[in-house]
Amino acid sequence: MIEESCDVLIVGGGPGGSSCAWGLRDSGLDVLILDKATFPRDKICAGWITPAVAELLDIDLLSYDRDHILQPITHFRTGIIDGATVETEYSDIVSYGIRRCEFDDYLLKRCRARTRLGEALKSIERLDDAWIVNGCLHAKFVVGAGGHFCPVARWLNQESHSEKSVVLAQEAEFPLNQEQQELCRVKPDTPELYFCRDLKGYGWCFLKDGYLNVGLGREGEKQLSAVRDEFTHFLDRQGRVPREILGKFRGHAYRLYGLQKRKIIDDGMLLIGDAAGLAVPQSGEGIRPAVESGLIAADVIQNCQQQYSRDCLVTYQEKLINRFGKWPDAPAKSVVPAALRQFIGRQLMTSQWFTRKVLLDRWFLQRHLPPLIRN
Ligand SMILES: Cc1cc2nc3c(=O)[nH]c(=O)nc-3n(C[C@H](O)[C@H](O)[C@H](O)COP(=O)(O)OP(=O)(O)OC[C@H]3O[C@@H](n4cnc5c(N)ncnc54)[C@H](O)[C@@H]3O)c2cc1C
Repeated sequence: MIEESCDVLIVGGGPGGSSCAWGLRDSGLDVLILDKATFPRDKICAGWITPAVAELLDIDLLSYDRDHILQPITHFRTGIIDGATVETEYSDIVSYGIRRCEFDDYLLKRCRARTRLGEALKSIERLDDAWIVNGCLHAKFVVGAGGHFCPVARWLNQESHSEKSVVLAQEAEFPLNQEQQELCRVKPDTPELYFCRDLKGYGWCFLKDGYLNVGLGREGEKQLSAVRDEFTHFLDRQGRVPREILGKFRGHAYRLYGLQKRKIIDDGMLLIGDAAGLAVPQSGEGIRPAVESGLIAADVIQNCQQQYSRDCLVTYQEKLINRFGKWPDAPAKSVVPAALRQFIGRQLMTSQWFTRKVLLDRWFLQRHLPPLIRN
């Protein structure tokens, strides 16, 4: 029996889903967000956002800062685990640290959509030109915004839960007491990033107004816990973070843009954010791509004027490619042997110029990327 109807059902109330709803707030469309979690909910994440995110969503940072953690970032400390480190200073604020439990809740509350929280999507069926979800929700259009394990993405791509992932990460975030703060040498305005020796991933430590976030992400499933242990021992030996204060690590997975082709549109349906696999390959930044894809989707949905055929939604796919780059048919094969690439990479990581201009400005901060133009 149908309990509730809407024009657009967004499955997932993370940054992608709430940004899409926010983009649709004046469209006249009736928008409903369904999320299996009740908010505030946590999300495994380092919690670092670039200023572009706040600008895109018109977030008044002064007012956000009054009630939430907002840690300005002006420096980075980078290097290879067990290798030399480089300090880079910026004259302006280049990023912010947030806590996902606060940030996602804030975005969801202000997006003005109706919500059904604490309710997972369990079934989805096509009926005429609409969707029936969980046997009780009727929607003309469905946005899959359920993150890496999005059930809409799995339905669209006929994948199983056990599909092999591209990046696996482990993270721990916890408040430090006074004594622990004295033992920890990580500075709040200076996140620390240390790459694995094979350059297949990196670890970070990041202090946000008394909350320490330590994690490590790398390609493929092999050696994650072993490399994480190596990383935490390194932090301990360097006197950055004593090992005994680290809490329990939690794991999560995500896809990097362009490494796995996914179907992202179909009649009456599209995917955004992690569900579409949009995280930046070099850094793993996924909040900005989730927000941008949510806003692009909102514009395309409005422009479709309730005619949600696949043909009309092709524009969405084109806009994503235009913004994030073309999806290669297969990962590029390098003619340079992996060991040599890794050796050169490790040398470059000790260069001040490379660290600032390439590693930070281009890969992590994406300072070359023009602001998203919406239409
Ligand atoms: C360890 C780690 C560190 C990271 N650090 C950063 C960082 O510092 N900066 C950055 O930009 N990115 C980071 N990322 C990536 C970033 O977390 C994601 O790219 C981002 O959260 C994607 O947003 P989203 O809205 O697409 O999905 P999510 O934030 O995952 O939200 C998806 C929502 O869908 C809901 N949902 C899931 N299944 C269902 C269902 N069946 N029914 C209903 N609802 C459902 C979930 O409850 C959730 O609320 C990190 C990722 C990891 C794993």
